[in-house]
Amino acid sequence: MIVLKFGGTSVGSLERVREAAAIAAAQPAPRAVVVSATSGVTNLLLDAGKQAARGDRTGMAETVAAIVEKHQSILDGLPAGPDRNETANRIEDLHTALELNLAEVTLAGDFSARLSDRIVATGEKVMSLLMAATLRDMGYPAEAVFADRVIATDARFGSARPDKDGTREQADAIVKPLLDEGKTVVMTGFIGGSPDGSTTTLGRGGSDYSATLLGAALHADEVQIWTDVPGVLSADPRLVADAREVPQLGFEEAQELAHFGAKVLHPRTIRPAVALDIPVRILSTFAPQEPGTLVTRESSSDELKAVTVMKNLILLTVDVPELEDLSGAAAAVFGALYEDRTEVVLAAQASSRRRMTYLIEGGNYGGCNRVCSRLEDVVREREYEVEIRCTEDVALLAAVGQGAADQTRALSRMLGVLQREGVPVLASNQQVSNVAMVAGVPQKLADRGLLAIHDEFIGSRPSGVKLRRQRRSRLMAESVQVG
Ligand code: ASP
Ligand code: MG
Repeated sequence: MIVLKFGGTSVGSLERVREAAAIAAAQPAPRAVVVSATSGVTNLLLDAGKQAARGDRTGMAETVAAIVEKHQSILDGLPAGPDRNETANRIEDLHTALELNLAEVTLAGDFSARLSDRIVATGEKVMSLLMAATLRDMGYPAEAVFADRVIATDARFGSARPDKDGTREQADAIVKPLLDEGKTVVMTGFIGGSPDGSTTTLGRGGSDYSATLLGAALHADEVQIWTDVPGVLSADPRLVADAREVPQLGFEEAQELAHFGAKVLHPRTIRPAVALDIPVRILSTFAPQEPGTLVTRESSSDELKAVTVMKNLILLTVDVPELEDLSGAAAAVFGALYEDRTEVVLAAQASSRRRMTYLIEGGNYGGCNRVCSRLEDVVREREYEVEIRCTEDVALLAAVGQGAADQTRALSRMLGVLQREGVPVLASNQQVSNVAMVAGVPQKLADRGLLAIHDEFIGSRPSGVKLRRQRRSRLMAESVQVG
């Protein structure tokens, strides 16, 4: 069987929904479709929740009206008849439930993660009904399934962890019989259900992850991620004009790319595919005839395939004069970062100088002031003597590909390129997997460094391919942002 996932822009309008349905219908059965909310709706739902919490009734009503209108414009494409009426009723029920949930938020004066998940799920639920009805209208039996009954998760609202065994059992019980009847199942992406039956979400952009989770639960032959770029690109085309499609990636390469900031895939997407060796293909609904990117166990070449940049990071150095304190101080630092849910992007330790270097996500951390006072507190509590230094506005450049395995040569080449460009390297590393080389650099020089590394390792685009560039840069909404 095949799982096809369509992102927000791929179901962004009536025409796009019909095109996505046609792409799905062209695949051999059995097939399951996973859908995101239509583009913009997830952000609108979150806005409505925040307005509800502030008691801004007028703002909230306007936001809800915008959501309803977006859904209505797609519903309008269905021909009049009992199927359309039934779909319209179910969508109205979802909109009514949305308003009740928003009223609950206003009452509580607080937009809790639990209510947030229940509220944002509306976007995917409505889309699954619209897509299933569109498929039926085109002559293909189809049924919408809400993933809070299928994807079993824990209760970490906003970023729930899936339970593989529970998901397999539920997929077998709920999805499989529908496929066996010859129906195309249209499942909501992004959402799951906690053990007590509450709706959860897998984190922003999580519909890709839903697709591979369903694929793994049903032992799919292939998972196709249909998006708005023709596959994984060798760099963000807004920063590197010569960026080109990458035809093939190994699982590890794809995971490193997603981890280091390539927005085309949600970072957790590939993992479920690895254990069962399920190929994942990334394709464009705007150019369905293009081959896209195929992700499989092995990498097809030992070249560097793509470069990424992650911005808004904080560089932290912790000097520990007493060697005996080193591990304890490291544990205290990691403990505090873990408690604050701050992601450590890179960690290195030079024991001879008793120095630890970390690159951490700065986004929700409140900058160096906050980091330093927090970390000084935790190490002082344990009576370690440490000196902490902190730099904001740091970016991480990553060059990803099996080619990084030839560590010393490739890394020195990359550092050489940065030096030539006058980009100082604040920290660098090869991942232990040997699939990525990374360098922390001052953020204001990051784009220049990225361009130079791309030129050096990947080079300019072969001339015949240039034609596609303009169209591509126009069509990038989904792969560079979510919502
Ligand atoms: N609709 C959700 C979001 O915008 C999930 C997704 O699109 O993958 O984050
Ligand atoms: Mg996406």
